[in-house]
Amino acid sequence: MNYKEILERVMNNVRAEKSLGKLATYIPELGNIDPYKLGVHLSTVNNLDVGSGDNQEKLSIQSIAKVFSLCLAYKMVGESIWKRVDVEPSGNPFNSLVQLEADNGIPRNPFINAGAIVICDILISHLERPKDAFLSFVKEISDNPELTFCQKIADSEKSIGYRNVALCNFIKSLGNIKNEPEEVLDFYFCLCSLEMSCKELAQAFLFLANGGKKVSDEKEILTKSQTKRINALMQTCGFYDESGEFAFEVGLPGKSGVGGGIVAVFPGNYSIAVWSPKLNAKGNSYKGMMFLEMFTTETEASIF
Ligand code: GLU
Repeated sequence: MNYKEILERVMNNVRAEKSLGKLATYIPELGNIDPYKLGVHLSTVNNLDVGSGDNQEKLSIQSIAKVFSLCLAYKMVGESIWKRVDVEPSGNPFNSLVQLEADNGIPRNPFINAGAIVICDILISHLERPKDAFLSFVKEISDNPELTFCQKIADSEKSIGYRNVALCNFIKSLGNIKNEPEEVLDFYFCLCSLEMSCKELAQAFLFLANGGKKVSDEKEILTKSQTKRINALMQTCGFYDESGEFAFEVGLPGKSGVGGGIVAVFPGNYSIAVWSPKLNAKGNSYKGMMFLEMFTTETEASIF
């Protein structure tokens, strides 16, 4: 398969399409991003690395970071993690409050905000310096010592984060947050502010395409079974209430973020990251979805 050629062809097609959608201006700093950025990077388990466009420029990874925090917490606490957060698609927007009451404070899955906030709480309970440990974990899985949080974006989100504050306090009142909400939210906003390029994202996610082992040194990050479960959750819950659509159109597990990034994983083959900041009505990158749909159509390969 000539991935480079296909990637370039799809890139040209996507570039030529109208750029619809809107920036995630609800986080004021994200409103300052150049809406016409477009980058893609693909890393394969056979050590091929190909990219195009703005693939080496940093983006705010936002909810994509929820995959990293889940992997770290799962690695640390094992199967008991599923007592605190469920594994069902929510069918609701990422910041919805409505299901929580009926579900007794157990979020539907770890990728909606409520679930990611509970995962932050678990990490805080188990780690002395959760921010440092989280960053070290992402640096380790991506073989990249250069990664940093963006304080400006974390502060910007904190300044308007009323709904996440409400979610966290509500879950606390139902007994599924053990630490102080302020500390939990500070950590949550911080990890959402992590900045990575498409190239860095594709490389960081590659172990999920490789049975849980890093490709560079075969170090096990997660077991095969844990890896299967993370990929299954990305498949069913990775795109807010558009996860079905992404499975239907693209056919790969993945995770998106409101910074306009999407990462998808083809187990046994590759990981791919796309960035285009304008979002569709469901909060997923408009051109990012389009790119991946065209890419799996052209390669004629998906998990299905
Ligand atoms: N930090 C964002 C929020 O909590 C993440 C949303 C996302 O990327 O889905 O609203």
